[in-house]
Amino acid sequence: MERAVLLRSLSSSSSSSTLASSTRLFSRSVHRLARLPRRHRLVPNVHQRSLLRRHLGFISPVSRPSLQLSRHFCSLSVRAVATSPLQSSPEVLGADDDVAEKLGFEKVSDEFIEECKSRAVLYKHKKTGAEVMSVSNEDENKVFGIVFRTPPKDSTGIPHILEHSVLCGSRKYPLKEPFVELLKGSLHTFLNAFTYPDRTCYPVASTNTKDFYNLVDVYLDAVFFPKCVEDIKTFQQEGWHYELNDPSEDITYKGVVFNEMKGVYSQPDSILGRASQQALCPDNTYGVDSGGDPQVIPKLTFEEFKEFHRKYYHPSNARIWFYGDDDPNERLRILSEYLDMFEANSAAEESRVGSQKLFSEPVRIVEKYPAAEGDDLKKKHMVCLNWLLSETPLDLETELALGFLDHLMLGTPASPLRKILLESGLGDALVGGGVEDELLQPQFSIGLKGVSEDNIQKVEELIMGTLTKLAEEGFNSDAVEASMNTIEFSLRENNTGSFPRGLALMLRSIGNWIYDMDPFEPLKYQEPLKALKARIAEEGSKAVFAPLIEKFILNNPHRVTIEMQPDPEKASRDEAAEKENLAKVRASMTQEDLAELSRATHELKLKQETPDPPEALKCVPSLSLQDIPKKPIHVPTEVGDINGIKVLQHDLFTNDVLYAEVVFNMRSLKQELLPLVPLFCQSLLEMGTKDLDFVQLNQLIGRKTGGISVYPFTSSVRGKEDPCSHIIVRGKAMSERVEDLFTLVNRVLQDVQLTDQKRFKQFVSQSKARMENRLRGSGHGIAAARMDAKLNVAGWISEQMGGVSYLEYLQALEKKVDDDWPEISSSLEEIRKTLISKNDCLINLTADGKNLKNSEKHVSKFLDMLPNTSLVGSTAWNARLPPTNEAIVIPTQVNYVGKAANVFETGYQLKGSAYVISKYLNNTWLWDRVRVSGGAYGGFCDFDTHSGVFSYLSYRDPNLLKTLDVYDGTSNFLRELEMDDDALTKAIIGTIGDVDAYQLPDAKGYSSLLRYLLGVTEEERQIRREEILSTRLEDFKEFADVVEAVKDKGVVVAVASPDDVDAAKKSHPDFFKVKKAL
Ligand SMILES: [Zn+2]
Repeated sequence: MERAVLLRSLSSSSSSSTLASSTRLFSRSVHRLARLPRRHRLVPNVHQRSLLRRHLGFISPVSRPSLQLSRHFCSLSVRAVATSPLQSSPEVLGADDDVAEKLGFEKVSDEFIEECKSRAVLYKHKKTGAEVMSVSNEDENKVFGIVFRTPPKDSTGIPHILEHSVLCGSRKYPLKEPFVELLKGSLHTFLNAFTYPDRTCYPVASTNTKDFYNLVDVYLDAVFFPKCVEDIKTFQQEGWHYELNDPSEDITYKGVVFNEMKGVYSQPDSILGRASQQALCPDNTYGVDSGGDPQVIPKLTFEEFKEFHRKYYHPSNARIWFYGDDDPNERLRILSEYLDMFEANSAAEESRVGSQKLFSEPVRIVEKYPAAEGDDLKKKHMVCLNWLLSETPLDLETELALGFLDHLMLGTPASPLRKILLESGLGDALVGGGVEDELLQPQFSIGLKGVSEDNIQKVEELIMGTLTKLAEEGFNSDAVEASMNTIEFSLRENNTGSFPRGLALMLRSIGNWIYDMDPFEPLKYQEPLKALKARIAEEGSKAVFAPLIEKFILNNPHRVTIEMQPDPEKASRDEAAEKENLAKVRASMTQEDLAELSRATHELKLKQETPDPPEALKCVPSLSLQDIPKKPIHVPTEVGDINGIKVLQHDLFTNDVLYAEVVFNMRSLKQELLPLVPLFCQSLLEMGTKDLDFVQLNQLIGRKTGGISVYPFTSSVRGKEDPCSHIIVRGKAMSERVEDLFTLVNRVLQDVQLTDQKRFKQFVSQSKARMENRLRGSGHGIAAARMDAKLNVAGWISEQMGGVSYLEYLQALEKKVDDDWPEISSSLEEIRKTLISKNDCLINLTADGKNLKNSEKHVSKFLDMLPNTSLVGSTAWNARLPPTNEAIVIPTQVNYVGKAANVFETGYQLKGSAYVISKYLNNTWLWDRVRVSGGAYGGFCDFDTHSGVFSYLSYRDPNLLKTLDVYDGTSNFLRELEMDDDALTKAIIGTIGDVDAYQLPDAKGYSSLLRYLLGVTEEERQIRREEILSTRLEDFKEFADVVEAVKDKGVVVAVASPDDVDAAKKSHPDFFKVKKAL
């Protein structure tokens, strides 16, 4: 869920890896149900989006799973059920044909798919026409998903509001929010919903079969028989309504989606993404916003909403996916119960997405976006070129070739189009997502932001010129080889991060299936990839790629150029227009109307704040404590040494990949050099050595390995004053390339010349652009960092490398690069000298036993080459920010409100029950008050069990001071809490589900490393688990005193709009120190 603490992606941006894709993606098309899996989103949209892209698209950089892990309880205990990749393909069963027939399904096709070692059977439900893909294999992480085609006609956001609403109670589960009950009390490994521009997906996943079927049943009942179409209150709560607390006050708009989308429309990158999509396809459903435009959402009526559900949420319009090691007969049995209740309808016809005819001439559009007042507005323009590539869907090989081309042009910092644009100095960072093929017709988009007004034209010319040059000259063969290796590596590794593999496959398959095309085809990449490889070998890469650039881009008249201009008045103008609308609404009402509206407002609030009766809660199926393993998940870890250096080894099946981390202690670094560390990390990977320029170095990494990344990691350590602070170098390679991997890591660390002023200047601009984006889009993460920086040293360090302080540092640094480069360059060298040393270094390896053994000699050689700098000892880092309340003002329509205190300082000793209680608060008190009745997109608390900081945060929040009142009410809520055994059991099971979060083998090895660094022992994990399992109601009551300390002594940081800060200052003049950040 969005409230996800996850969001604390503060970690500074350093540079990730060879495929630093974060800057090149729109966060355009998918709306999630507010509900992203907790703590899994390091770079929110990117990861997901790259998974959505078919074929080549699921290449992900060496992920940095968890800078934020350090900050969350989950680092305590990490799951270890068998989660190895699919090893072999013995007999996999499908459903018996006669069983299927008897249940009313007709088999359409049946294939064994080598690429995912699965048998896949496509069925059609005879009575309704519903289609079912039943995929069987040995993966225990089972996935179910139901997808409807839901093309909107306008921007009222119906599909999005419906996506939120159907999970608010159904026929069999008549609760306020069964979804939340599942979050509380199931072992799900994935639970969410997404709205695309043309479809809505409801996926769930679990490794526990009983739990899995429970989730499936709740989801099926929700989509087919939701209560939201009978009771307008859900529509009002999730969509929009007028709020009037007292007839004498002003009317306001409230609604979860309304506010979520206000947040989205405050982010320049999303505004651009939306504008691009809509301008490319003005004539079909992509010309409107399925998420909802906040100015249009209030036009939506309940009647239209109900009708949309009746029409499209119907089996005749459904595509259903099952995946994993469960019984395929059982899947069909569960489905038939639901599907048989319907008669066929015409929805499949009506929901078909029409294609956009290609333009005969290019189009140019100028849009405004809300910006803060400031002197450099002239330099804040954005320009993006977009093409719709084809009128009809492309064949698989062309699609694959386009994906390849995309990677060649933009995939790595060394890719020519990316490199030339960034090196031009015409802008700060890339915009546009490159090739995008998840909708009906493929698109290509590329542009720059941070462009000065008079350079717009130059950017356009540079893009067209570079593309022409690439078509004429082709790509160099090392680059082609590097891209090919990267693509093949990622296909082989099939590392979907925190996404279940079955879900990644489903999203790929759906990309075809939803348009009535073959759902099997996108899963089978081996043959077309082989063919493409052969063509490149035979005809040369130029013969393959040049015609693609010419046909689809250069000679394609369907081009839309979008220029976005910063407008410092736009936010207040929109605000004023909204107020004026509401004033008109008010003026048109009689005294009786107003009294009635106020009554309705209170009624809705009352409903929202009244808990479900315990009998109703019982209807949501749940596991019992007997179903829960008593021991924490075991990750095999052997601590040994090579050449006197500590080495951790994790013997896990990884399909012949070795994952390695090299960890250097940062504690002897001078305090004033800390903010430079993220850029130091990026420089290592993106500047050249004496004999290789950075392009060659990057290509070499791409050709030989699965990627290398370097980044800082900092956390408090429980019971210690001193924080744990390191630089981690992560890399991965196939077993036969391990020697290359360590040689390259060594070159990156020791041979790279930290002298390239021009490139460094680009890094600074890009980082600045990224931080600005983060401030608008993840203000709660920024607020959390700021509070931490006031409360402990580790937090202060992280804020120096990823918070408001970092942004300020970058702003000053940008100038300093021009004025005093030698000093910066020598500081970078000083960081290297201090950090890169055999002393206090640590190695972490994850692979199977044979490959671990084989890699030892390479590790040994690598260690021999490291310098043996004598330790300077820890430097005194004793900085914190002053503990004053702060309001950080940015141009936004929504706020992010935080409050935090260190509860260890009150004498509280950590107990496992704290995990259960925090989770419970998230799903009850904070969810109900901050989100449901407060109208924020999310509200949650987080307990960092290493530092002792307990914090509250809200996300896209229309309120400011009111939210603080909710936080302060937490202790009373806990004191007065009543809870029966069922509810308590659910809370415990849900917590275990978090603690045992599903992990692929590389993530297991990595989590184990973090536990080692943070001093979390196996004994402690066992004790915490026992404490979790034996949590009692009294623990909740006792915890009330703990959170009371946050109420009394907590520090407040809000990232908020100017208007709301002004209003708060009026009522509480000295409460905040105000700081302008953008
Ligand atoms: Zn949403």
